[in-house]
Amino acid sequence: MRCLGIESTAHTFGIGIIEDTGKILANVKDMYKTEKGGIIPLEAKKHHERIKEEILEKALKEAKLKVEDVDIISFSQGPGLAPCLVAGKNFAKELALKYKKPLIGVNHLIAHLEIGKILTKAKDPVFILATGANTQIIAFEGNKYRIFGEALSIGIGNALDKFGRDIGLGFPSGPKIEELAKKGKYVELAYVVKGMDVEFSGIITQAINLAKKGVSKEDLCFSLQETLFAMLTEVSERALAHTEKKELLLIGGVAANKRLIQMLSITCKDRKVKFSVVPVEYSGDQGLMVAWQGILQSKNVKFDKKKIEEIDIKPNWRIDD
Ligand code: AMP
Ligand code: MG
Repeated sequence: MRCLGIESTAHTFGIGIIEDTGKILANVKDMYKTEKGGIIPLEAKKHHERIKEEILEKALKEAKLKVEDVDIISFSQGPGLAPCLVAGKNFAKELALKYKKPLIGVNHLIAHLEIGKILTKAKDPVFILATGANTQIIAFEGNKYRIFGEALSIGIGNALDKFGRDIGLGFPSGPKIEELAKKGKYVELAYVVKGMDVEFSGIITQAINLAKKGVSKEDLCFSLQETLFAMLTEVSERALAHTEKKELLLIGGVAANKRLIQMLSITCKDRKVKFSVVPVEYSGDQGLMVAWQGILQSKNVKFDKKKIEEIDIKPNWRIDD
């Protein structure tokens, strides 16, 4: 069985195709970028609509398939930016109706976790989901995904991007911050862990103010990384202690960051916990995870025109729902 998955929750429009054996057939994506300023949802939507046919064509070519050859179509139903979600939903509906394929709406966050599990062969890890919009420490307990800790205001990627936007690094800023941090030294910033939760926005405001006072970009990038990543490491370690799980799995676009990986590996080594990182290509937003989640939810699905016509987006869908 093959599933074609469509991702469009935020900046990325992607299509992946996977078999139920886990064999990857295609994963093609394109990201909405800006020179300066952050993501404008309506502009991102336009990007997705402009690029969708081209991405589909490329994915089918990579998989050496036609749409007729896939068995199911899945799409990210939420959470995400409503205009972006609508672009993906409309395209998924259009394809499902045209080719008479079952359509499965998946939770984007669960898709991140499940593709991480299959690619790293982790069995029952504590997950750190560190994406643009989301920062959550998650584990599967009592038959559902539970959130053990999370960012109270903005996610870690968005926090880095917000700082980057303010000092003129453009979007996304994470990789540029990582580069600049290599030449920086430590300046003190607030450290805000409340119970199992982390709060980034005040620290970002503080860093922006320090930048205005002339503290160097390099020093602020270095210190932001040290501070925000230490906060994440602290709550992850506590979640490991609480759940007594023996695996930690880092997922999300921010998982590309070498310093974050280093901090978490040191902690895991101390605790004798197996640490895995989802490969960069599959840790940020992409369609493959949506396709795989479609496979996991494919039991007993069939083509149902009325259901497909009624399916809608869920912009605020939480992982523990
Ligand atoms: P996602 O939402 O999972 O696609 O991840 C996108 C986020 O990852 C953006 O906020 C980026 O700034 C961030 N990001 C990408 N690469 C890095 C990096 N090397 N260091 C820190 N953040 C990064
Ligand atoms: Mg994501």
